[in-house]
Amino acid sequence: INADPGHNAAIPAEAVQEWDNEHFVHPWESIGTADADRTIAARAEGIYLYDPDGKKYIDGPGGMWCVQIGYGRREMADAIAEQTMRLPYTSPWAFAAEPSALLAKRIAEMAPGDLNSVFFTTGGSSAVDSAIRFVQFYNNMKGRPEKKIVIGREKGYHGSTYLAASVTGKERTKSRLDFEDRLVRLIGNVNPYVRPEGMSVEDWCDAKVNELEQAILDAGPENVGAFIAEPVLASGGVIVPPPGYHKRTLEVCRKYDVLYISDEVVTGFGRLGHWFASEDVFGITPDIITCAKGLTSGYLPMGAMILSDRLWNDISADDREHIMFSNGYTYSGHPVCAAAALKNIEIFEREGILEHVREITPHFQERLNALGRHEIIGDTRGVGLIGCVEGVAAPGTPESKRLAIDTEFGARVDEKCEDMGLIVRPLINQCVFSPPLIITLDEVDQMFDILETAVQQVQDEML
Ligand code: PMP
Repeated sequence: INADPGHNAAIPAEAVQEWDNEHFVHPWESIGTADADRTIAARAEGIYLYDPDGKKYIDGPGGMWCVQIGYGRREMADAIAEQTMRLPYTSPWAFAAEPSALLAKRIAEMAPGDLNSVFFTTGGSSAVDSAIRFVQFYNNMKGRPEKKIVIGREKGYHGSTYLAASVTGKERTKSRLDFEDRLVRLIGNVNPYVRPEGMSVEDWCDAKVNELEQAILDAGPENVGAFIAEPVLASGGVIVPPPGYHKRTLEVCRKYDVLYISDEVVTGFGRLGHWFASEDVFGITPDIITCAKGLTSGYLPMGAMILSDRLWNDISADDREHIMFSNGYTYSGHPVCAAAALKNIEIFEREGILEHVREITPHFQERLNALGRHEIIGDTRGVGLIGCVEGVAAPGTPESKRLAIDTEFGARVDEKCEDMGLIVRPLINQCVFSPPLIITLDEVDQMFDILETAVQQVQDEML
């Protein structure tokens, strides 16, 4: 534990804790533990968070998969301050502004294929919302208003606005939404780890591609507007679909004139060593990409939906003058957020962060896989700088103990890691991590050394 002499809390930590417990409803607040004390994040620098006592933690989840360039960048503060003084806001409907126009151009250059039209949003959920609304608008304009069903996947996460939550497959029983019955179809988990015993990964891929095709046929292709998929299902437990899945599902979509929305809110902006993973990692050019998080490295909220020219130009010329895509936000393309995104991109380029991620990924993944030798670990999986360890009971463990392990593993590993100065994100029987992309090889080792110790200790306690 490293003391942080620079920290000087003006307000006692106890007061922060009290106000937080009494008044702050946290995202995904667990009703049962609503007033449990949370660790207070007092300040941050590089890949580290500090609590009010100066205890230092490696930020394993990188905030929420978003703090790509790390914390405490003076240049980010300067870019934000400068834009705030020059033009803090302007109506995105009435005016053009330099940072947002330039950012749209930069994103169009980075995005695959003919994805050149950028609609800015306030985050990932609103980007997904906008994408679904665009699909509906597009099909209305094409004279086929019934083509609106969206196919999502079990374990997929696409956000918390009503539309985005409706196509989310994660924890649906708790957040059941009426919208789903009419306009959403969900297909099964693509995780190769849960394939039936004895089935090859290739056969699993065939089955999953067929499942998509069958879902389209069942609903009637004339009723299906889009398929929405994260290249890697992040919040659902870092699920990497089997090789070939992305290309083949895109082919199925093309066959039935179903639009492919690639939700790159987590995988975009460097997480897999590329600006976007769809094309550079998985070889597909989708129709629409959604992104957020890494776009500003979490310094300010911003997201985007990127549309292909093919779609935009496909709306008939006769109609163009008389119709509008009636979707917008007061803060679409916010100049200060755009200035932060531009500075973030500049830092990525100047420091070669994409190259760095590609360079350290093999070591990161090797250390992750090595955790698999613990008896309590059922699976390790990841790609780029994202990883997940999944705990299971050892073979032959009585079922009751197995169930306890399944639910407690994540929380126990989390608690031990936190004691040793590492934040991980527990997800029931899993822990996921996606550290800031600037993490060094040494720091990757520190992170996994702590995880190894924690996993060993949890195993000793639970098996
Ligand atoms: N899509 C994906 C793939 C995500 O992981 C998230 C957030 N975890 C979202 C959408 C929603 O983004 P936001 O929380 O910024 O609204």
